[in-house]
Amino acid sequence: MPPVNRNKPVRAASSESEYTLMDFMKDFPDDATCLEHLWRTRFSADGEHAKCPKCKVVRSFKRYDTSQQRQSWTCTACGHHMHVLAGTIFAKSSTSLHLWFYAMYLMTSTRCGISAKQLERELGVTYKTAWRMAYLIRTKLMTQDSEPFDSGNPVEIDETYVGGRARRRGRPAAGDNKVPVFGMVQRAGRVAAVTVPNVKRATVFPHIQERVLPASTVYTDEYRVYENLSDEGYDHKRIPHAEKVYVSGDVHTNTIEGFWSLVKRGIGGVYHSVSAKHLQGYLNEYAWRYNERNTPRAKFSTLLRRASGF
Ligand SMILES: [Zn+2]
Repeated sequence: MPPVNRNKPVRAASSESEYTLMDFMKDFPDDATCLEHLWRTRFSADGEHAKCPKCKVVRSFKRYDTSQQRQSWTCTACGHHMHVLAGTIFAKSSTSLHLWFYAMYLMTSTRCGISAKQLERELGVTYKTAWRMAYLIRTKLMTQDSEPFDSGNPVEIDETYVGGRARRRGRPAAGDNKVPVFGMVQRAGRVAAVTVPNVKRATVFPHIQERVLPASTVYTDEYRVYENLSDEGYDHKRIPHAEKVYVSGDVHTNTIEGFWSLVKRGIGGVYHSVSAKHLQGYLNEYAWRYNERNTPRAKFSTLLRRASGF
């Protein structure tokens, strides 16, 4: 066995992790690297040339040390300042970019979620700052798109209720204060989960039509809202949960139910409680990790691309 170089830690081949904290620190060792990264991804591929909005042509830019510590590059022809953070979630923040990147790293690499309290401890910022950072990351960067699922694999559709008074199963009674959530997941594919005012047909069908291509196979339980899905051109199969049947061959909704239990365990165990107003943000965060689950390294860089405005 070759001697171990302790200054160059190597990931164990058997480790599940694919983008470790060491990798992150190697890529982004300090604040300047993070700023340079945004400058290059947003404006200047080579780090020097960018299109000057004032000159209207590609110019050479330089970064001058200013007493105000402005995070800008200056056009060497006309003196115009390009502010790298303008238009990003980092723009009006006095928190270091390095901590922002670290927060994004933590939120993409956790399995069950990370609370604002834990972010506060990890980053050494106030609770209020940690809360705001997590809030902006999940509501601005982790937003769910409305792209239709691929054709091919079947889609499971289900609704659930989150928060309020605990109740093991079944639809809530009045006064439970639970928030209805509607979800769809494609087997071996992506998930979409949204808070809805109710689970009436007129509310949920547009979500289905937006995401699920006509003629796709869809699986649901026997809730009456899902009646008539085959009239919409779907190959619809239902599982009679009321008769205590949960799986019949391929026909089941275990995938979406697995996602619901991940969300509920997370909200119960990590976040303790989530108000209706903020629930969509948490759903985004769980959907983000689920949809990026097969590409751990990309998970962080995809989020970083969103942060750069793509
Ligand atoms: Zn210029």
